[in-house]
Amino acid sequence: MKKIQMVDLKSQYEKIKDTVNASIQEVLDTNAYINGPQVHAFQKSLEDYLGAKHVIPCANGTDALQIAMMGLGLKPGDEVITADFTFAATVEVIALLQLTPVLVDVDMDSMNISIEALKKAITPKTKAIVPVHLFGLAANMDAIMEIAKEHNLYVIEDNAQAIGANYTSKDGSKKKVGTIGHVAATSFFPSKNLGCYGDGGAIFTNDDALAHTLRGIVNHGMYVRYHHDVVGVNSRLDSIQAGVLNAKLPHLDQYNKARREAAAKYNAAFANHKNIVVPSFDSNGDDHVFHQYTLRIINADRNGLLDYLQSKQIPCAIYYPIPLHSQKAYLDARYKEEDFPVTNQLVQEVISLPMHTELEDEQIKFITDSVLEFLQ
Ligand SMILES: *Cc1c(COP(=O)(O)O)cnc(C)c1O
Repeated sequence: MKKIQMVDLKSQYEKIKDTVNASIQEVLDTNAYINGPQVHAFQKSLEDYLGAKHVIPCANGTDALQIAMMGLGLKPGDEVITADFTFAATVEVIALLQLTPVLVDVDMDSMNISIEALKKAITPKTKAIVPVHLFGLAANMDAIMEIAKEHNLYVIEDNAQAIGANYTSKDGSKKKVGTIGHVAATSFFPSKNLGCYGDGGAIFTNDDALAHTLRGIVNHGMYVRYHHDVVGVNSRLDSIQAGVLNAKLPHLDQYNKARREAAAKYNAAFANHKNIVVPSFDSNGDDHVFHQYTLRIINADRNGLLDYLQSKQIPCAIYYPIPLHSQKAYLDARYKEEDFPVTNQLVQEVISLPMHTELEDEQIKFITDSVLEFLQ
């Protein structure tokens, strides 16, 4: 059996080596390392793929979130609501811009922002909501957009973990996640569902005026060369990374399908086990793209399972071990423990198993057998 990896980028690369190498060679041959034709081509291809009017490439997903918030003109003191159970980048940029982060609890089933908690957190100072499509599953965008409309709030989708996932609205219409809110941010970090071979990110929006603003902000606030109209940043997707992404984007749907198939096999092996809650998804649907495959281990020794799997050379991880409201950098006297019952429980129960596009049946069987052996 091939060695099991949390994310197997090497086996994936082997299958697309020729196109990736040719893409990179083209950049080396033309020396257009910054803003080369590959960047523009990728922007267009991603706009077509998503059905988004504008894609603005940038240096990484964290920058993408920050630039989206700058582009919306959020001001110090404005409150921005986001989920307590996510990667820290989301709350980090809110704090960095001197906006006021307001963390709220999540739903037990979806692990995404709780609509009830979100409603309760809205004040006259609230200006934006940042739903995170955690682990590849779309947040409840119908409800979030409705609340945003009612209270005149911006919605900034953190789409770093869910590129390619569809969201099906109550009326049956489907849209790619990241094209529903006012603006969205994504990451092309190597292990993400669409990853380059370094850092990369992008912002999406359907709003022409906002897109124009964002294009200036990523480039030092310049709309005309050497005329700086607003305070901007330097945040670029380089041509080599764009070349890699041009080679990989055509495979994204297939990659996400491979992830869903692996998740279905895991789910089948764990079905109805008294100590395991599997992630729920419609196997015919396309709402979940399994950036992570995350179980809840209930009434059993989650940490013992982690150690046991690692002792059998099965990589696994706790995403995320500490709620953001308990992190030193984000402590706030307004937060009360009783406002975060779900996050506080999830950090004790979750475990993420290997998930990538190259998992083999033999590996999945070894992993599921090992989990079941430990839990009996
Ligand atoms: C990865 C990630 C980011 C940040 O992306 P980088 O490219 O690493 O800066 C932001 N939010 C979430 C939810 C992520 O998973």
